[in-house]
Amino acid sequence: MTSFTPRVFSGIQPTNHLQLGNYLGAVKRFVEMQNDGMETIYCIVDLHAITVWQDPADLKHATRELAAAYLACGLDAEKSILFNQSQVPQHAELGWIFNCVTRLGWMNRMTQFKDKAGKNAEKASLGLYAYPSLMAADILAYHATHVPVGEDQKQHVELTRDIAAKFNHDYGVEFFPETQPIIEGAATRIMSLRDGSKKMSKSDPSDASRINLTDDADTIAKKIRKAKTDPEPLPEALDGLEGRPEARNLVNIYAALADISPEQVIAEHGGTQFGQFKPALAELAVEKLAPISEEMARLMADVAEIDRVLGKGAERAAEIAEPILAKTYDIVGFVRSR
Ligand code: ATP
Ligand code: MG
Repeated sequence: MTSFTPRVFSGIQPTNHLQLGNYLGAVKRFVEMQNDGMETIYCIVDLHAITVWQDPADLKHATRELAAAYLACGLDAEKSILFNQSQVPQHAELGWIFNCVTRLGWMNRMTQFKDKAGKNAEKASLGLYAYPSLMAADILAYHATHVPVGEDQKQHVELTRDIAAKFNHDYGVEFFPETQPIIEGAATRIMSLRDGSKKMSKSDPSDASRINLTDDADTIAKKIRKAKTDPEPLPEALDGLEGRPEARNLVNIYAALADISPEQVIAEHGGTQFGQFKPALAELAVEKLAPISEEMARLMADVAEIDRVLGKGAERAAEIAEPILAKTYDIVGFVRSR
């Protein structure tokens, strides 16, 4: 098997505001991988965002705000390549080729489409259905080998591997790598504060279900105070969280924010009532998130600078993706004569 240089790629949709799950499950890991000295490419996936309706002015704002969040969380536009997807047309072009590689049967098994389209699948966009094939293109346009994501994206990264394998097999090449999902730590699936069976999401209609990175200290404290729990105190041992999804979720959030294990949280707080644990969690959340939201606000005061960073990042991204797409066209048999 051809060996590929390690390269990290991941992306987040510019829909609404970044929420705590995105930060703990994704961006915090993005920063760690950048600082481990790996080649890192982080995208704002605006083409994915429009698979459900986005008001154009809101989309522009969310794109710049997500760029500000990336920077405020510790991504560095020199060390990492930061850009928005629509500025690098190779994503959409490779996405089309992958639409012709991907089988309908594979797409029909994708749980995100079922969750997002709900009962009204007939009215969902074709783009929402094809989303995983574009995501494979996002990753493989860079021959990325590692993709840090939350648990909910595992199925999509597995599909990316299937698409790469089928392309390689159909054309008799070893051109696309077998990408590894990187899903680690206590925060790979942060749950809604209102419903322990549903993941926290930017696009959940209930704002109380999540903590946004733009929330102020009072709002954060209030949302944690009102978070759904059960009447029992925290257990004395980790296995006591079995069957208590809301309690487990708050313990996981605490662990991820404090950079400790859930076992350590239980060792420190086991036996306490939520009346005590929730204010401790709120204080920790504010301590960790307030500097990020302040820095985001500062960066958002200079939108031209954010756009400059994204433009520069897109140029660097295109330098990698262009030759990979050109080679893909050659493999597929497209005539390139200009
Ligand atoms: P949307 O509701 O618009 O889909 P989202 O909150 O699910 O928004 P995405 O842009 O789809 O955010 O995902 C960005 C990244 O954040 C992905 O790596 C995803 O796995 C991760 N992520 C999303 N929600 C959570 C969560 N609740 N816990 C941990 N990671 C999450
Ligand atoms: Mg999502």
